[in-house]
Amino acid sequence: MNKPTPFLPSATPSAWLGVMGGGQLGRMFVHAAQAMGYKVAVLEPAADCPAGHAAERLIEAGYDDAAALTELSALCVAVTTEFENVPAASMAQLAEHSFVAPSADCVSIAQDRIAEKRFFVDCAGESGVMPAPHQVIASHADIAAIHDNLLPGILKTVRMGYDGKGQVRVSTREDVRAAFDAMNGVTCLLEKMLPLAYEVSVLTARGADGESVVYPIAENVHRDGILFTTTVPGPNVLPMRAQQAQDAARAIVAKLGYVGVLCIEFFVLDDGSLVVNEMAPRPHNSGHYTMDACITSQFAQQVRAMARLPLGDVRQHSPAVMLNILGDAWFDGDTVREPAWDQVLELPGACLHLYGKEEARRGRKMGHVTFVAPTLAQAQEQLRAACAILNIAP
Ligand code: ATP
Ligand code: MG
Repeated sequence: MNKPTPFLPSATPSAWLGVMGGGQLGRMFVHAAQAMGYKVAVLEPAADCPAGHAAERLIEAGYDDAAALTELSALCVAVTTEFENVPAASMAQLAEHSFVAPSADCVSIAQDRIAEKRFFVDCAGESGVMPAPHQVIASHADIAAIHDNLLPGILKTVRMGYDGKGQVRVSTREDVRAAFDAMNGVTCLLEKMLPLAYEVSVLTARGADGESVVYPIAENVHRDGILFTTTVPGPNVLPMRAQQAQDAARAIVAKLGYVGVLCIEFFVLDDGSLVVNEMAPRPHNSGHYTMDACITSQFAQQVRAMARLPLGDVRQHSPAVMLNILGDAWFDGDTVREPAWDQVLELPGACLHLYGKEEARRGRKMGHVTFVAPTLAQAQEQLRAACAILNIAP
């Protein structure tokens, strides 16, 4: 493949990069882009947003506002997204004038669980991994036709699911019917409930020249459907399993023709087999550890990919454990108080990241802390100490 011309961060005038969405992933992207000399514009409807506070420009508009999209692409040499559910049509419009990564086509596969599963099945020859057995549920007739093998299972909305939202655990066809009706009959996917031994994710990046890199595999623990910790290296991950997941990830991004950072979630089952769950077409919460433990953070990598620069070194220099900090850490019963950050920061190897959100709410992602240490055991020990300080069950 020919090397496409890069968008260099020149001093006068600075090159602008654009990002769709104003959340914390956008904010960390903005910081990384600015550190490399770019200016950044964010398109987001909410004036008070984490990325908007950091960017040089906030275009306050709906994600499908044609005039705002024109403004963004007139200003920016390249545009990316920080959230999965960006309208694919908006990415397509932006691509008329700017370099857009990931593409509208890739985004539209990742944001639709049916298209995503179909893609994983089509890709299985190359990737060597299959998704969980599943069936589309779009009508009561589909429910009557559910194969016994799929129950018990999880009913997931096809679109807009995140952090376990839009998911119901079901044991019988009657449960499926009740859940489907409660979701007002939106199209869903029924997935067989698998016996998970543990969960991992593989962060990858692919450049416009077709080169790709794969970060070390991360082991993830979820709580109430939300990522709780990411540990790298994963204490349960066998080298053989890591290699298999990384090879699968490489095959998946190549088949997609993807450009940018992409994270793929896998399940490892009790019998050791690997199942591909879903992919996020952007930097991912489970990749936050790269900010403090790898040579190139996932956000700096996104900047490189979208600016068509050489991809950065993905080597990890220290074992790391990342703890998500939810709004719950601000509550002591009904009393709201600031967590003791001074005590957390006293712990060796603590790297604190707060997203600048004004209001702490239970379940809201407010920040994360990563512990890097010479050994994984030491990082895990600091994690336990931080949980005690923050009143989080370890
Ligand atoms: P997120 O966007 O936060 O990653 P999501 O809402 O898109 O999550 P999934 O990742 O599909 O949803 O599922 C959330 C969690 O539910 C998984 O991490 C896993 O713990 C559990 N889960 C999902 N599907 C299955 C399955 N088929 N069998 C067993 N557990 C599952
Ligand atoms: Mg998930």
